[in-house]
Amino acid sequence: MRITDLKCAVIGQNPIVRIVTDEGISGYGQVEGSKAYLKPHVLFYQPYLLGEDPTNVERVMLKIRRLGSFKPWGSAVSAIEMALWDIAGKAAGLPIYRLLGGKVRDRVRVYNGGIRFPMTGHSPQAYAENMARMKEAKEGFTIIKQGVGFHSQMPHSVPNFFLNEPQSGRSTNNRGMVTEQGLKHVIACAEAMKAALGDSVGLALDCGPGWMVPDAIRLARALEPLNLMWLEDLLTGDYVPYVSPELYREVTQKTSTPIHTGEQIYLRQNFQALIEQHAVSIIGPDPCDIGGIAELKWVAEYADLHGILMAPHGVLDGVFGLAALVQVSATLPMNYIAFEYPVARPDWWYDIVDGLPDPIVQDGFITAWDRPGLGVTFNQAAAKRHLLEEDRAFFD
Ligand SMILES: [Mg+2]
Repeated sequence: MRITDLKCAVIGQNPIVRIVTDEGISGYGQVEGSKAYLKPHVLFYQPYLLGEDPTNVERVMLKIRRLGSFKPWGSAVSAIEMALWDIAGKAAGLPIYRLLGGKVRDRVRVYNGGIRFPMTGHSPQAYAENMARMKEAKEGFTIIKQGVGFHSQMPHSVPNFFLNEPQSGRSTNNRGMVTEQGLKHVIACAEAMKAALGDSVGLALDCGPGWMVPDAIRLARALEPLNLMWLEDLLTGDYVPYVSPELYREVTQKTSTPIHTGEQIYLRQNFQALIEQHAVSIIGPDPCDIGGIAELKWVAEYADLHGILMAPHGVLDGVFGLAALVQVSATLPMNYIAFEYPVARPDWWYDIVDGLPDPIVQDGFITAWDRPGLGVTFNQAAAKRHLLEEDRAFFD
């Protein structure tokens, strides 16, 4: 089998990769939402792929893996890897999890980082009410994540939150020492949310990036009585193109609250210090950013060897990203906690693909499906209605 074309279309908010072969099998991969600008980056890899056998996934990846980087510049490589596995699975007539060594679990736990209800404010009461609604969501999530601190409106909405001027706009760089009032506000909100959840549902907090080490330690220690699932991206994270493992280690060593990072990190080499130095308790790579499905699996195994837990990121990964997360998470070792459930936007995404279970999430779990490859395919007649004019030939 040979690759004859690499295509990319922006469908809704997600660039979609299609790898075409000379045997009539196509593979699909997805780039995180709101990244239409990555389409030319995906197509940049076309000359490296043409003529290759897509079922030798690793041999193809060796040609392009070095040509990527931290989020968002690892997305294209990651989506291509996903599409290669999709082809390899379809060619073998097997779901991807079988090609990765088989299932460790039939159902994979997911956590809520994306099914949201409008906030009525930013007070502890507002956070508690919002959390109570998420607890009642039909998916029955057993873990819910909420943004606080620099990963929320608090720098703007809480007077005197921190010691620098709040910045506005996308990818803000709010960072600095938090005031006592700011710290107390975050703690009060966390306590209110946990009171609303009770001890049957785990609470995780996405916190930054932007905290300074002493504040991060204060926050993590103050929250110890709440038995939180984790504090995410306190110091670095999101679009920060470095890791700072030595700073994370300072925080992690001084608290019993689990410390989490990793969603923007590309490749195993950039997880090495975090894992080997036990700099965090939990890592959260995203298959759409780390370099793909097999890279995430490798990092999970290496983390397990070092006693570090796994809670993969995925909120904007769409339906093919969801499929990739289900396939790989079914195979991960016992350090697996849950992955972040992607919510496809716009809603019509669920009408243009076949293969997803209905409902997708039951009692906070997704049952791994057995169809070949990713197991999710386009309903082309329905999908074509959402193609942009420039992408008319995407399925041809
Ligand atoms: Mg995050």
